[in-house]
Amino acid sequence: MPLDLVLEGAVIAGRDGPACDIGVADGRIAAIEPRIDADVPREPLGGRLVIPGFVETHIHLDKSCILDRCKSEHGSLEEAISEVAAAKHAFTEDDVYRRGQRTLEKAIVQGTTRMRTHVEIDPRIGLRSFNAIRRLKQDYAWAIDLEICVFPQEGLTNDPGAEELLIEACEAGADLIGGCPYTDTAPNEQIARIFSIAGRFDLDIDFHLDFDLDPSWMHLGEVCRQTELRRWGGRVAIGHVTKLSAVDGEGLALIGRRLASAGVAVTVLPATDLFLMGRGHDHSIPRGVAPAHRLVDHGVTCSLATNNVLNPFTPFGDCSLIRMANLYANVARLGRPRDMVQCLDMVTRLPAKLMNLADYGIAVGNPADLVVLDCADGVSAVAELAAPLFGLKHGRRSFTRPPAILHR
Ligand SMILES: [Zn+2]
Repeated sequence: MPLDLVLEGAVIAGRDGPACDIGVADGRIAAIEPRIDADVPREPLGGRLVIPGFVETHIHLDKSCILDRCKSEHGSLEEAISEVAAAKHAFTEDDVYRRGQRTLEKAIVQGTTRMRTHVEIDPRIGLRSFNAIRRLKQDYAWAIDLEICVFPQEGLTNDPGAEELLIEACEAGADLIGGCPYTDTAPNEQIARIFSIAGRFDLDIDFHLDFDLDPSWMHLGEVCRQTELRRWGGRVAIGHVTKLSAVDGEGLALIGRRLASAGVAVTVLPATDLFLMGRGHDHSIPRGVAPAHRLVDHGVTCSLATNNVLNPFTPFGDCSLIRMANLYANVARLGRPRDMVQCLDMVTRLPAKLMNLADYGIAVGNPADLVVLDCADGVSAVAELAAPLFGLKHGRRSFTRPPAILHR
């Protein structure tokens, strides 16, 4: 097949050996060779690192960019939930679309090519946010694959009408279903019902789970139990799990092995967890970030993700996943080269595994989703927050960020 483009002198993330050329044809990776001689447009990379794009497993596009209408006085989880619940009444489909668009475009120019967004469904918001995000999914397919996870943020069994709406969203094409047992009056019943809906529609599951610093009780065990009972291993993820930051090494090893054998993956959300956890302390403040790198060592599939952007859950955010990898490395005090590479893995390869993306990766035959970072290897990508310079989605250029120029 004739090539359309050659990326010349690329260092491919996760692959040993010298820089090579990547040939793109018809939106796919057609060749990876030391030198490709073809009379087609060429993009010299000068030994820069190429990744298949960042993979965001956990973000909330629908409630991003609402600091103009919410307050964040205490910075607690309870305040964030109640502030957003109040603001949600006034969300219109166009409003959600415009705010989601702003956040999605930021993620695209940060080099994210695949994304799972959570979308709240309940009787107050109905399917307005869901419909807006579905439009975004279609309108931005040229730059990013967007997966929609519908979930009841304010509870399921305690919120009459929420379950019917969730089912309606699944019938309308939601990609997967989530849960939030910690806001439910009957958490285990919620977990069971979410598994039942997932079974009925053949969907993966992604829970918000165990989001405080008390390790004396957890919903994690019940999620593992249901995953095994229903043979849903490899299709279940849990996010936050900040309780794991308060568990000692021995306890963590037990839990890690349990998660790995059940096939339950974990997403850690460093920005939100650092912002919301440990609010009762005025000194020696616990970090509240689950040790994802240790879980990976126990065989758990882990990702680092953004979660919230510019709202009371997290009043920050530029949607950069290399920033999340760097932030996590910083908080978890990971400084060895192999640790930094693992942090890069947790925003690329491992989240792709969490999302069961079979066609992700720089390999012949896969979609030509290629993002060039302004660095020579994975260690400096994480240590220096390497800037994404440009990206291709399905072989077509989707964004460009020219490098900075010094004017001496
Ligand atoms: Zn979340």
